Amino acid sequence: MPEFHQPFEIREYPLPEEIEGRAALVRVEMAGICGTDVHLWKGQLAIPRPIILGHETVGTIERLGEDLKADWTGESLRVGDRVTWSAGMLCGHCHNCAVLRQPTRCLNRSAYGISFSSDDPPHFSGGYAEFIYLRPGTAIFKLSYVSIDAIIGAGCALVTAIHGLERIGIGWGDSVVIQGSGPVGLAALAVAKSSGAHKTIVIGGPQARLELAKEFGADDTIDIEKFTDSAARLLQVRQLTGGHGADVVIECVGSPAVISEGFEMCRDGGKYLVLGHYGDAGTAPLNPHVITRKQLTVYGSWASEPRHMALAIDFLRKQGERFPFEHLVSHRFPLDRTFEALQTTSQWASSKSVVVP
Ligand SMILES: [Zn+2]
Ligand SMILES: [Zn+2]
Repeated sequence: MPEFHQPFEIREYPLPEEIEGRAALVRVEMAGICGTDVHLWKGQLAIPRPIILGHETVGTIERLGEDLKADWTGESLRVGDRVTWSAGMLCGHCHNCAVLRQPTRCLNRSAYGISFSSDDPPHFSGGYAEFIYLRPGTAIFKLSYVSIDAIIGAGCALVTAIHGLERIGIGWGDSVVIQGSGPVGLAALAVAKSSGAHKTIVIGGPQARLELAKEFGADDTIDIEKFTDSAARLLQVRQLTGGHGADVVIECVGSPAVISEGFEMCRDGGKYLVLGHYGDAGTAPLNPHVITRKQLTVYGSWASEPRHMALAIDFLRKQGERFPFEHLVSHRFPLDRTFEALQTTSQWASSKSVVVP
């Protein structure tokens, strides 16, 4: 991406001659397009340009630093192994990491596909490329018994949902409303169901995405193309929750307008999680009286830690049949059509677009 709002270009850079001791050069097999990439392209976060975007990636190890013997979980690593990794790198010693124990808000955090200009060596720091150079300190995970499509279909949505739902806590038997049926919404649904939610309601569209939600076990879906106004959706949620509203409401849309609607969908004393706002999409009017009157607890959650990636991979291995994330991968593009892949995501034309270099 040479600049915000510009079409992507193919550029060539030299591969690194030396691989640092704890680094690795990986040949990219597949990289996912995430909604955040659309926000980045629109300039909603300050990032360097030119940049190779792509923070959901699977590849095989092409060259390995001599000191990198094992992955994050301690499994041995060799050239040719298939791996994925945490896109975010945390320092572990800043005030937020060490004192406040908020590592996802690490003051020195950097992330592949977000933080590094492709003009700066080692150049290859994003997924939409033939290679990526994994810097020392990257949390790498060797993949076995789980498909590439499942890993990329789950993408950063699953780790995001695992972290968010860990923060908010789902009680066994809870009713949960999920606003949004994109990858984050479906991942939140999978994590909520496996955490013991008994009643899950997904609000979204288009119909194909709601079918996926059904496949993931959603008890009810509310089609925003059919229930076009807020009052109608609220009435649906009330009727489906015995008139009380839901124990937990999870925002997975990224549009400020849905927040006040979501507050109203909570039961008295309920919990609300803002999970979908990775880009700064601006403000929307909301009535704080609702938070006071309903005694709501409102949570935020940013990105994830490597341990969430470890949990996500284990989850896909063990519950992959119940939650077939590979079915999200709907559109595949070669590297020179990456911009088209971004456009399909931006226009909500795909459940998940991927780049296969
Ligand atoms: Zn993402
Ligand atoms: Zn830190």
